[in-house]
Amino acid sequence: MSIPVGPPFRVEFGSGTLADRSADFGGYVAVTTPTPWHLTGQILARQPERVQFIQSLEVDELDAAIGSLPPVDTVVGLGGGMAIDAAKYVAVSRCTRLYLVPTIASGNGPFTRNIAIRRGGVPVGSVADFTPEAVLVDYDVIRQARPDYNRSGISDVLSSYTALIDWRAAASAGQAEWRDDLAEVSRRMRAKVVAAASEIGLVSDAGIRTLMEAFAEGAESAASKPGQRMFTGSDHLFAWNLEATTGRHFLHGEVVGLGIILMYAFQGNDSEEPRRALSEAQVRYFRKMYTVLDERPMTPAIAERLMALAGM
Ligand SMILES: [Zn+2]
Repeated sequence: MSIPVGPPFRVEFGSGTLADRSADFGGYVAVTTPTPWHLTGQILARQPERVQFIQSLEVDELDAAIGSLPPVDTVVGLGGGMAIDAAKYVAVSRCTRLYLVPTIASGNGPFTRNIAIRRGGVPVGSVADFTPEAVLVDYDVIRQARPDYNRSGISDVLSSYTALIDWRAAASAGQAEWRDDLAEVSRRMRAKVVAAASEIGLVSDAGIRTLMEAFAEGAESAASKPGQRMFTGSDHLFAWNLEATTGRHFLHGEVVGLGIILMYAFQGNDSEEPRRALSEAQVRYFRKMYTVLDERPMTPAIAERLMALAGM
């Protein structure tokens, strides 16, 4: 498979950027979801020809939506990961210009050429050859998202702690190819977000910028490097398996944060450093509540009885 590698995306940081730059969008379609549209629609200098709400990244649904769109020369993706990926797909299919406007500081989606589409519920990720006009990171827009969504984005960079150890282990076992240069990028990005953790917790301009720059630089280094494991290791495996076994959905950065602390300790390290960064960033990776469980002793006999009561 040949992977298109283009220049890194142009990222514009600022306050009021969306209002300013939307004057240049021309005739466009906004690809979005209801919440971000509700928060951003009224600040656009020019309204779109059509607002296309996205419900999934299913190829069939996206193709049906594309078939009904008016002719336009620009697509603007406004929202979180799903809206951003859908906008990339629509722009590539229609050969239009593209602007990406993330409304949350979470994940590297706005900075990569990957498109996380699905077919019949199965992820069939693709990589396309496109370059957006710009990625607009408007601090005021991002601050409208829930603070815990923005803060917990830090976990997808702090996962460098665990991911690099796993990558090294995989390489020693002949299961992966270790890359010193990429590991160095991963460590450098991690150090930057650790230093800015309290700003990330405050969701300040500086905090948003540091986090988004880490996603952008990580995405750039990862592009065209299949098999790189800079930011995904047992931390993510823990999170995915916790969701699979409990059947519950957790905020990604919070459950990955818990995965980092547990797996980093399991790898034989002191988890103090990632724990402090998560605390400074105000990520609630662990919720504690006082209950009767704190008072009553739990013995194997009681556990057996409770399980029998539950029919297990
Ligand atoms: Zn992640």
